[in-house]
This record gives sequence, C-alpha cells and structure tokens, in this order.
Amino acid sequence: MSKNREITYTCPYCGKPFTISIYDSVNTREDPDLREACLSGDIFRHSCPHCHTDFMVQNPLVYMDPDHKFVLWLNANDAGRDLSSFAAPLARQGYTMRRCASLKEFCEKIQIFEDGVSDIAVELAKYDSFIEFIDNRRGNPEDVTSVEYQSCNDGVMKINVRTDDKGLSFLIPLDPLEEEIRVQSDRYAVKNEEFPLVNSDWIISLFLESEGTA
Ligand SMILES: [Zn+2]
Repeated sequence: MSKNREITYTCPYCGKPFTISIYDSVNTREDPDLREACLSGDIFRHSCPHCHTDFMVQNPLVYMDPDHKFVLWLNANDAGRDLSSFAAPLARQGYTMRRCASLKEFCEKIQIFEDGVSDIAVELAKYDSFIEFIDNRRGNPEDVTSVEYQSCNDGVMKINVRTDDKGLSFLIPLDPLEEEIRVQSDRYAVKNEEFPLVNSDWIISLFLESEGTA
C-alpha cells in the first residue's frame, strides 16, 4: 500500500510553518497515478501557502512495482539499518531491489525495469558509450555532463552521452553484455537483498578494482 503522512514543515524561504503531505512508500499497482508523480518529481514538490514559493522535499521513499517486480529505495544516504526482514520475502518473490542515491537515478531505474532490462547491462552500456565518446575524441571526459539510458528496442539499447552544448547517442546491443555478465557472474554480482547501488560509481569501482589487481 502507498503510505503518506502529514508533517509540519518550515518554509526555507519565508521561515513560516505549514503542513505538507509526504509519501514514505508508493505502490504502483494500487496507485498508478503516483508513478507519474514520481517520474515528474511532483511527488516531492511543495508550495508554501504563505510566500507561494515552490520547492522540493526529497524524503526517503520506497517505490514498489509489483507488475514489473522491482522495489526502489530512494535515499541519498544508506540508512545503515538491517533491511533483511523487509527484503527477504520480496527476494523470494523474485523482486529486484535497488537503492537510488538521486532522483535522477530513481527515474532512470523505473524506466529500465519497466523495459525489462538488466540495470547491470545498462551500466555496462553507459560505461562503454562513455569510453567510445572519449576514444573517438568527441569530447573530453570532464565535458561530459551525463550518460543516460533512453530506451531498449529489439535488444538494442540507446544511450545518450551529453555535454553542455551537444549530445551523442550510442546504440548498444544487449546480448553481448548479458553474455559478459553471465561469464563473469562473480564480478558483476550484487547483493540484491541489501538494496545495492547499481550506478556509475559502482561500475567505475569494479573497473578500478580489476586494474588494481591486474
Ligand atoms: Zn514560504
């Protein structure tokens, strides 16, 4: 079930208190409208009734999609608590569980898992696209502002590498990446029940690790 609660909030702009409703969890089967509110960020957007300034309150949120079998935990910081009692039954039902450190990661994960794609393959594809972008001298690493998953059609992922003034799309076939993940299953293993982060920091840490031991 989706859960929300009222909290008293002090406006960061005018300093006056008022009540806002925030969501702790969202279940997309029960509240399909909330999916859209998550993707647009509206679920975190509030307006001060006193000074009418809009602002974001990005509280930790558990997002559950029973139809695509994934649970996302949007939380910039690892709470450090034991999640096993919550995670174990979900793992038994085949849910994929991930923590997302930012709203951007969170929205991207929703799209990836709704498309039925492995996010590990997506991170590999994003990494490959980034390297190709740099190797082909399309730009310098420091110019890249983001590398984003766009879509997956007929087994081909579309990845966008963006800089301030331009962007370039890469088409990356899914099969070879899934094969690589299968062959090197130890390397790409994640602890699903611990709500792992699977993002660019994670993939970079894997490659740094292997360089260090080579
Ligand atoms: Zn205000």
